[in-house]
Amino acid sequence: MIPFQKSPLESGVTLRTSGTLNAQEGFFSENAREIQVSGHSDVLVCGGGPAGIAAALGAARAGANVRLIELAGCLGGVWTAGLLTCILDGENKSGIMQELLEDFGGHVYDPEQAKQVLEDKLTTAGVELRYHTMVTGAVCEGRRLKTVLTESKSGREAWTADCFVDCTGDGDLAAQAGCGFEVGKDESCTCQPMSMMALLTGLSPETYQEFKDRKHFLAFMKGLDIEPSYRSPTLRHIRGPIYSIMTNHEYGVSAFDATAVTEATVRARREINEIVQALRKAGHGFEDLMVVATAEQIGIREGRRIHGRYAVNREDIMTGLRRDDAVCRVAYPVDIHGLKKEDPAYSLADGGERSKAYDIPYPALVAADVDGLLMAGRNISGDFVAHSSYRVTGNSVPMGEAAGKAAALAAKTGRLPHELSWGEIMAG
Ligand SMILES: Cc1cc2nc3c(=O)[nH]c(=O)nc-3n(C[C@H](O)[C@H](O)[C@H](O)COP(=O)(O)OP(=O)(O)OC[C@H]3O[C@@H](n4cnc5c(N)ncnc54)[C@H](O)[C@@H]3O)c2cc1C
Repeated sequence: MIPFQKSPLESGVTLRTSGTLNAQEGFFSENAREIQVSGHSDVLVCGGGPAGIAAALGAARAGANVRLIELAGCLGGVWTAGLLTCILDGENKSGIMQELLEDFGGHVYDPEQAKQVLEDKLTTAGVELRYHTMVTGAVCEGRRLKTVLTESKSGREAWTADCFVDCTGDGDLAAQAGCGFEVGKDESCTCQPMSMMALLTGLSPETYQEFKDRKHFLAFMKGLDIEPSYRSPTLRHIRGPIYSIMTNHEYGVSAFDATAVTEATVRARREINEIVQALRKAGHGFEDLMVVATAEQIGIREGRRIHGRYAVNREDIMTGLRRDDAVCRVAYPVDIHGLKKEDPAYSLADGGERSKAYDIPYPALVAADVDGLLMAGRNISGDFVAHSSYRVTGNSVPMGEAAGKAAALAAKTGRLPHELSWGEIMAG
């Protein structure tokens, strides 16, 4: 029986906002207000994508009391809200990644089934879930992160923990806590394009067999005067009559400009629907083609790369870095999607050079500028080229698991993540 707790909404404390509008200067100055501390946990994981679910599971299974705060109404991030449908670089991994491949039924999975699998796993492990809640602030005492602030229908809330893990993909928590970070390529900060995924039905198995070859699919589209913004349109069979498609690129959109992301979302969804309509009209096995669902969240390939105590870099991945404190070994190549429409769809090499399998060292998950904070997933510490490789979900999961285990040990022993050795984290 969960004890009754008066919600901040009922208490009316956190919803009351006051301040002064200076319309002439174009700003609003908000008054300070008291915020309810809604909970304390040993480990607080922010973001419940592939990295976040593994961090929460890793920490809970190591005996920690864990809370996970997630903006969407499901777990899985790009896997589910983003309708991804394919896990890359997971088959060479052990631990939670291996377990999930079994539960998902392989590296191609049904996103709806994945939502259920993940909720079952995390609730069974005792993780306290909070959906529909956005991390909006972080407060340190000295160098030590102590409090996370969130906004939701429950109002503005504060949460404390002994150790925090940033799995927001975009490094929201770390940036709010004051960590340094990098975004995109060189000084221009240009990021890889965004893509909206969609599920389709009404495709015959024969049509799928013919058009799963991307070049052939593109040539067919061009023959119909369809010019998809992603020049390597990808059809994938999920299960039964359900397929997925990736066929659009939104170039030069910043993950930190909500207006630009909104516009990109509207454009991408329109493009998918227009392409499906044009294919349906063309026949050739596409007569009954229908969109089952477009992703609720446009897929964001790149956000912040938070400064850690090690930065995985181009040289590491070209030379095949080996480390004793390896969280996982990445076998996936450089994967840079064209940064402009004129560029090739994507490249599996940088300047013609191909990466070798390489290790992600534990210190790349430990924040450099703030104590008591780990990162996992695509927002760990690394450069533009290395990120293009380690970002895939088969690596986000082991990174999350490692960060979760480290956070649990830090909380249990009253130490900070950077004071732990990889050996003792592995030993639990
Ligand atoms: C279009 C596209 C195609 C891709 N294709 C593949 C592929 O085929 N296979 C593959 O393995 N990888 C693929 N990737 C890469 C992969 O999906 C990501 O790099 C991976 O999801 C990273 O995992 P993550 O947990 O770090 O981040 P995410 O999956 O982005 O999860 C972050 C989570 O944090 C939540 N969140 C964000 N901000 C906040 C906040 N402020 N407060 C609370 N919660 C927050 C989000 O809602 C989300 O659930 C693709 C990516 C994209 C965009």
